[in-house]
Amino acid sequence: MKTETNLGTSLDPWYDHYAARAAGLSASEVRALFAVASRPEVVSLAGGMPFVAGLPNDRITGSIERVMATVGPQALQYGSGQGIPSLREHITQVMAAEGIQASPEDVVVTTGSQQALDLVTKIFIDPGDVILAEAPSYVGAIGVFRSYQAEISHVAMDDNGLIPEALEERIITLRAEGKTVKMLYTIPNFHNPAGVTLSSDRRASIAEICRRHHVLIMEDNPYGMLSFDEPAPDAIRAIDDGVVYLGSFSKTLAPGFRIGWVLAPHAIREKLILAVESAILCPSSFSQFVINDYLDTTDWLAQINTFKGIYRGRKNAMLTALDDHLPELSWTNPNGGFFVWLTLPDELHSKAMLPRAVKELVAYTPGTAFFADGGGGQNIRLSFCYPNETDIATGIRRLSTVINGELDL
Ligand code: PMP
Repeated sequence: MKTETNLGTSLDPWYDHYAARAAGLSASEVRALFAVASRPEVVSLAGGMPFVAGLPNDRITGSIERVMATVGPQALQYGSGQGIPSLREHITQVMAAEGIQASPEDVVVTTGSQQALDLVTKIFIDPGDVILAEAPSYVGAIGVFRSYQAEISHVAMDDNGLIPEALEERIITLRAEGKTVKMLYTIPNFHNPAGVTLSSDRRASIAEICRRHHVLIMEDNPYGMLSFDEPAPDAIRAIDDGVVYLGSFSKTLAPGFRIGWVLAPHAIREKLILAVESAILCPSSFSQFVINDYLDTTDWLAQINTFKGIYRGRKNAMLTALDDHLPELSWTNPNGGFFVWLTLPDELHSKAMLPRAVKELVAYTPGTAFFADGGGGQNIRLSFCYPNETDIATGIRRLSTVINGELDL
């Protein structure tokens, strides 16, 4: 303990001043390797960056110019904490495409859904409160939960998503232990990182279980519109309007705008608006006006279809390469989104293997990043959203060299 403090003090004179919650703000274990992985010769199957080069640049430029010509001063000014009314109206139309009936008053615009995750956690979670999350779960959500000193309890999932029986059992067990179970965080569609989708009947069961046990559902759905075949089932929010729903333009348009949103019941929404105002005063007026114009003037569903075609082709390239090079392993087959979840043979560890992979010029995210409890050593998240089909095939071939090399040792 003493050594740690001395070491900390010598590196950072404010070491003893940080709030306890800052301990949850630890750098991702694989950050340093990712810096190496961004070299151009490395095929990165690691990051979840959308393919923004697939956007119609001229349309976005047109929107920016129109905004400046028509509402320039407003777009450059502070705005309402809840978000501009016309964009909130558009968001309800986007939501209708996911089976959700909502009114513009239900919507709170945020700086990406990442900020929504942060603010919802901020208004609900005291240190030690339990948040239930899928096993595995989104690394950025785990980071937020940790920063508010939540206890994260992973609940099992399978190819049909979160298992309702496991969820109910866990709520009962944790409460019997005296724990305060407040929230379920779930990514029902094209899960990050697992790639699976929650079946329709399970959505109803999970909504019912959470209602009965008074557990708030935070439904995070940035990938829902990016389906490859069948559309995703209706959102949990479509079944239960007590759900706090998180949406985003990051994957269907562009993350650089940093615009997401929350749909929340009235009382929660009022707190959230105050939390937005306290954190940032208001989301970017400029981004909101530009997105509003883009949605007004562009066939945005056709653009989403273009993205779907690109991502479908890339997913198929990845699965074909896995079939060709690693036929003895197993992986998920996502019906949308960005990610495949690969399971390694027992004797391999995804984090230990990463430096070898980077040496072979391929990068991935080790499964350990997606668990708060040390799990995931046997899994790898492979992203197919950013590299082209040829690079994906090269990346998987290199990965197979690494895996087969490790097995030969
Ligand atoms: N939730 C999930 C599941 C994600 O994958 C991401 C982005 N990787 C986010 C939230 C945050 O997205 P944004 O802040 O760009 O809307």
